[in-house]
Amino acid sequence: MSKACIIGWPVAHSRSPLIHGYWLRRYAISGSYGRQPVRPGEVAQFLTSMPAQGLAGCNVTLPHKQAAFAVAARKHPGARAVGAANTLWYEDGVLACDNTDGVGFMSHLAASAPGFKAQDCAVVSILGAGGAARAIVHAFLSVGVKEVRLFNRTRERADAVAVFFGSRVKAYDWTQAMDCSSDAGILVNATTLGMQGGGGPLEIDLAALNTSCVVADLVYVPLLTPLLAAAKARGLTTVDGLGMLLHQAVPGFEKWFGVRPQVTSELRDLLVADLERS
Ligand code: NAP
Repeated sequence: MSKACIIGWPVAHSRSPLIHGYWLRRYAISGSYGRQPVRPGEVAQFLTSMPAQGLAGCNVTLPHKQAAFAVAARKHPGARAVGAANTLWYEDGVLACDNTDGVGFMSHLAASAPGFKAQDCAVVSILGAGGAARAIVHAFLSVGVKEVRLFNRTRERADAVAVFFGSRVKAYDWTQAMDCSSDAGILVNATTLGMQGGGGPLEIDLAALNTSCVVADLVYVPLLTPLLAAAKARGLTTVDGLGMLLHQAVPGFEKWFGVRPQVTSELRDLLVADLERS
């Protein structure tokens, strides 16, 4: 029986057990996926003791993503791009890590905006320059996007991301976001703005976007963020943050349990019901 878990501090809020538990039932796998609170400072000890605990691997949530990246001996490109890991497993006896947020975002984008071809997109506009933004930048660059524009409150942070990724990524001031996005094929909110219980509202006028621009929000509480509502009101294609959460879980499940799981509407409904209860 394979076992996996999510570690964090705190970890009680995580919805990963709901997702992996659904797949374990759906594919009739006699495995388990639990929550494991791990104190800061005890991450290395926990990760290196996973085989002894019978764990095939784990997901990692705040505040351990950087620590897990540092501990893993084999770092896959998604994790290197972000400098943080959310998925760990053993590969030929070596502790390996990746960050699956970028591939999760792209899978959900392909499913919910099928007319949008990321590889044909000339300009991508991203609000934010934190860990999630880095994952999205890496994902778009990997499919060949020519230019990614970053708009961040703290300009230096956007500059640092642009330096890390090279000349296809350009940093701008936060206030330039709309002036510099009229030719964007997609606008992505990778800030905490618009999130229930934190960050404050994302106050932005979408009038400058062209009519074929896709608008994506990584925030999924609420599911219909004010940004997505404004984009819908303009008739733009929208992509919510929940699908990314579901799709980022796929690679880990496949590594630990040997089946590539499907993100189904039934799974999504399960998560929506859980979000509505909280
Ligand atoms: P992070 O590293 O802490 O970055 C937060 C970003 O939000 C930074 O760019 C920060 O700008 C910006 N920000 C915060 N408050 C702001 C404000 N008042 N005005 C303007 N910008 C502000 O966080 P993260 O891990 O990248 O996460 C970003 C968002 O993505 C969160 O909402 C998170 O829930 C979401 N997310 C969703 C998924 C999913 O599966 N859907 C996965 C990962 C993350 P500064 O640099 O100026 O502080």
